[in-house]
Amino acid sequence: MRGVCAVTEAEPLYGVMGNPVAHSLSPVIHRAFAEQTGMRLRYEAVLVEMGRFQEALEEFRGRGGSGCNVTVPFKEDAWRAATERTPRAELAGAANTLSLAPGRVRADNTDGAGLVRDLADNHGARLSGRRILVLGAGGAASGILGPLLERSPAELVVVNRTAERAVALARRFAAFGAVRGGGVETAAGGAYDLVINATSAGLRGDAPALPAGALAPGGWCYDLAYGPAARPFLAWARAQGAARALDGAGMLVEQAAESFLVWHGVRPRTAPVIAMLRSGV
Ligand code: NAP
Repeated sequence: MRGVCAVTEAEPLYGVMGNPVAHSLSPVIHRAFAEQTGMRLRYEAVLVEMGRFQEALEEFRGRGGSGCNVTVPFKEDAWRAATERTPRAELAGAANTLSLAPGRVRADNTDGAGLVRDLADNHGARLSGRRILVLGAGGAASGILGPLLERSPAELVVVNRTAERAVALARRFAAFGAVRGGGVETAAGGAYDLVINATSAGLRGDAPALPAGALAPGGWCYDLAYGPAARPFLAWARAQGAARALDGAGMLVEQAAESFLVWHGVRPRTAPVIAMLRSGV
């Protein structure tokens, strides 16, 4: 593996907890950031048994864990395990970044910041005044709504296979901007400037069903997923004539950079790490 510092047991311990977790690129990304910034740390992938997040977290802390990322399906467990939460984690109802100290678990959510940085800084997307459609109402969708609304879109519509979840999610964010939720049919003819896939449909090789006219001519599409899981939605996007069809690899690196900043007070450069991932390392 490229970019691994020589490590010893004395170096601070970080990790990512999930199930499954073996596929996670977080260890590669955080080790690359550590090498780039001259930090010495260990970063492990920790497979957590279903229903045993709290025990796994205690065990990790017992081994000297200073912080961990949390991935599917434990982001809500991580939020519940917290003794304190940042405002963005509080609002999301899900956490992907935990900072650990004796008797304290501080929860943060860097997913939305990562998405917005990738869209706006890496790809030059303008979000203010735009009409944005978010597909899905799970943990990832709840993490991105706040940071998207901070950019003052003209309208943000959340649609989901299970409509009630989208309606409830939109209600939770109503104080932060023009947002509404509904079933997938809500998107018909909506001509959105940006369609973001925050569903997990791609993990099973599917694209979420969308009615005709959901994407504006020249609109952009972004899938939070990356690799093979992003292919079905990005194929749909290209078939609709999307001006850009982007996967979530950039978001993955940007949310990791935001976690790195939270833990170490240093923001690493992301472009070389995104390039490294895209080259298949
Ligand atoms: P989740 O909490 O399990 O939510 C899944 C969502 O997908 C729900 O809204 C669900 O709808 C919907 N869904 C599942 N299968 C579907 C299908 N066949 N058709 C339509 N909708 C379907 O998952 P999550 O944590 O939000 O993750 C969603 C995706 O985002 C995953 O692919 C994950 O890898 C990705 N992600 C990427 C990053 C990154 O950094 N790039 C960060 C976070 C997440 P129902 O409510 O109807 O079940």
